Amino acid sequence: MQCVKSFGSCYAAMRNYGRRGIASISELPDVYQMLHKTCRDFTEGELKPIAAKIDREHLYPKDQIKKMGELGLMAISIPESLGGTGLDYLAYAIALEEISRGCASAGVIMSVNNSLYLGPIEKFGSQKQKEKYITNFTKGDSIGCFALSEPGNGSDAGAASTTAKLDGNNYSVNGTKTWITNGFEASATVVFATTDKSQKHKGISALIVDKPTKGLSLGKKEDKLGIRGSSTCALIFEDCQVPAENLLGDPGMGFKIAMMTLDAGRIGIASQALGIAQASLDCAMDYASKRIAFGAPIIKLQSIQNKIADMALKLEGSRLLTWRAAQLKDARKPFTKEAAMAKLSASEAATFCAHQCIQILGGMGYVSDMPAERHYRDARITEIYEGTSEIQRLVIAGNLVKEYGLN
Ligand SMILES: Cc1cc2nc3c(=O)[nH]c(=O)nc-3n(C[C@H](O)[C@H](O)[C@H](O)COP(=O)(O)OP(=O)(O)OC[C@H]3O[C@@H](n4cnc5c(N)ncnc54)[C@H](O)[C@@H]3O)c2cc1C
Repeated sequence: MQCVKSFGSCYAAMRNYGRRGIASISELPDVYQMLHKTCRDFTEGELKPIAAKIDREHLYPKDQIKKMGELGLMAISIPESLGGTGLDYLAYAIALEEISRGCASAGVIMSVNNSLYLGPIEKFGSQKQKEKYITNFTKGDSIGCFALSEPGNGSDAGAASTTAKLDGNNYSVNGTKTWITNGFEASATVVFATTDKSQKHKGISALIVDKPTKGLSLGKKEDKLGIRGSSTCALIFEDCQVPAENLLGDPGMGFKIAMMTLDAGRIGIASQALGIAQASLDCAMDYASKRIAFGAPIIKLQSIQNKIADMALKLEGSRLLTWRAAQLKDARKPFTKEAAMAKLSASEAATFCAHQCIQILGGMGYVSDMPAERHYRDARITEIYEGTSEIQRLVIAGNLVKEYGLN
């Protein structure tokens, strides 16, 4: 047994790491603090003023997304050589939280372009594909989408029934993809289709498809509970001809590409959820400090203090999990379990905080004059897309079973 006195020499190095560590923005290196400030200024000046209107009227925030592209927010972790910003996933998490604090719709549009569209092309694409399908999608004027879900399967993504049949130099794609975020505005999509049915999920391949393309039409724009400034629709493929050179990775790699993409995407959705949770806490604190009941601001009441303490606890715990998952990804270490934990925790924190925010505002929480009811509606989706909370629990438990050697 080693005497613990010998551990002292390691302690200074450990403390230094801790100081560089992840407790709050002000303890992070300057680059993250500057990024955070840029996003905060943009949120206050450009997103908060339009968030209620685009929610009410189902409007895509075109000008704001273009400005986000100019700021470098639409391709944060893409290398500069491809037109991206060249930062890491921790930077992405910080930026996406701050954008979502102002507008959760802008948050999901940013998240899908960064993680679900650009992410897999950067990781698995050929140089030619990267030049054609990344560089033009970094500036906010063109965005991409990710088409995995189908009417018959969402959580069970391996059961895809969309097919892609190689015929000469083209794949002929047939089937319907559903619930596709950015579906209306996207200029290209990464789509998953079965190229070899006998191989089940190992017969699924990923293709990059231009939009518009002959044989690809759009379903109706869904009328959603929340994130109403982002479009969601079906992509319908009918003998849609896609050049064989648009295959992403090798034939049969699609399921693996989808799962790896969603691991990273979950860090994005966790960050979106943190933004909604933080906005709910901010709104509740402001209102509780001004609202007088029984001769004093309600923030003095112990039961209100209990609520805000619980909100802050869930928010900060989830932020630590999210930043940890991002840092593991940045260090090229496994992060599947941690991303699922971050997404599960942050999405439940968002729905909890939005719920408590309405309670603290009382009647004012229930009407659209205040943002609380929008946060409540926006929060709900974070427990559903990119894997429901039930699926996150399966991912976490599956990883634990492996870690304990029980599989
Ligand atoms: C607004 C919105 C945007 C979306 N954006 C996209 C997008 O851009 N691209 C895309 O491909 N998809 C997108 N989706 C689809 C989304 O990812 C799916 O809705 C989600 O994965 C759940 O699939 P499902 O709706 O088919 O539910 P189902 O899979 O039918 O699940 C129904 C219920 O059963 C539970 N369940 C299912 N299987 C299990 C299991 N094994 N164990 C325990 N419980 C289980 C689920 O947790 C859920 O509670 C979006 C959805 C919405 C609503």
